[in-house]
Amino acid sequence: MATKKLDTALVSAGRNKRYTQGAVNSVIQRASSLVFDTVADKQRATAGRAEGELFYGRRGTLTHFSLQDAMSELEGGAGCALYPCGAAAVANAILAFVEAGDHVLMSGAVYEPTQDFCSKILTKMQVTTTWFNHCTGSEIGELVQPNTRVVFLESPASVTMEVQDIPAIVAAVRAKAPEAIIMLDNTWAAGVLFNALSFGIDISIQAGTKYIIGHSDAMIGTAVANARCWPQLRENSYLMGQMVDADTAYMASRGLRTLGTRLRQHEESALQVAEWLTGRPEVARVNHPALAQSPGHRFWQRDFSGSSGLFSFVLHERLDAQQLANYLDRFHHFSMAYSWGGYESLILASQPEELAAIRPAGGVDFTGTLIRLHIGLEHVSDLLADLQAGFDRLTN
Ligand SMILES: *Cc1c(COP(=O)(O)O)cnc(C)c1O
Repeated sequence: MATKKLDTALVSAGRNKRYTQGAVNSVIQRASSLVFDTVADKQRATAGRAEGELFYGRRGTLTHFSLQDAMSELEGGAGCALYPCGAAAVANAILAFVEAGDHVLMSGAVYEPTQDFCSKILTKMQVTTTWFNHCTGSEIGELVQPNTRVVFLESPASVTMEVQDIPAIVAAVRAKAPEAIIMLDNTWAAGVLFNALSFGIDISIQAGTKYIIGHSDAMIGTAVANARCWPQLRENSYLMGQMVDADTAYMASRGLRTLGTRLRQHEESALQVAEWLTGRPEVARVNHPALAQSPGHRFWQRDFSGSSGLFSFVLHERLDAQQLANYLDRFHHFSMAYSWGGYESLILASQPEELAAIRPAGGVDFTGTLIRLHIGLEHVSDLLADLQAGFDRLTN
């Protein structure tokens, strides 16, 4: 079949008759035990337990298979492992490939719990981590060691939004360590605005908690692997007991159906807000990959098919605690919360020294307070009025 457009694939992926059984959506098959009618049935299920035969709940039911098929199709992988949250996806993807004495090369601007997993868990297993400057391109080759087993990227970077030159990084790593597994936290792009596997990434990881679920009411992690990595990722995750309940898997599949439409609105509104912010006197810099002033913009333009709703901006001023509370406590449409990707707008502030403390490969190059926004599906004029009032609070 000719390649489907993304919107069409999001609607149809994973909805074959085995999974839907006459309905539009996949069935929610809740099960620990799956019953075999005959000895022959049990043998068949056992032989095919990793290839979509109903075997035991921990290997998944029709509901999980539907989501896994959908994710593999959307991200062009050989298979998709499911996890109870994004952090579990990150940890288990790395764990599946390292052993004592190995080395991990990781961007120094990844999501903070991903860094902590390396410094607090991998160290206990004698797996060492080297952090590299996020914007490093082909120079990364110099950091590859004979024992480098995993290279872990996240683009755009968490909070500061720099986009990496992924093709240059992949080529440089492959030249030095053809066997190394290259992983990407692809959450910002919802796995679909950046086709990681087609750029030579081995495993594309997502906190499906964000855009796939899309309504801030459930957590899931996904890791789509290429053919080289899929069997090892699948078996290791299985042995680590990584699975998600059928209801959550169903919620994720349901989220996929509207993902294209939601992302387009997040993109359009976020761009309007980002551009408005570039004209504000209080703002030193807007970190939005689709803006020319944002670090790595040209890589985003070359490699991504769109942008999502998460970005940040830096104020000229470093707000003190009282200014910060006065600013943040009184928004009407922006809630303060961790996570993002839902239909509602969010705001979080970070001080430059707080961000510098979680940039092990080097600090930050700004001195003002950073504000991270997730632009939800509210009307953009209401959001702009809310932000305008926030700036007014800074000066009054
Ligand atoms: C939220 C997030 C995670 C972790 O996902 P959880 O579902 O909260 O565990 C990982 N990476 C990125 C970039 C995230 O934003």
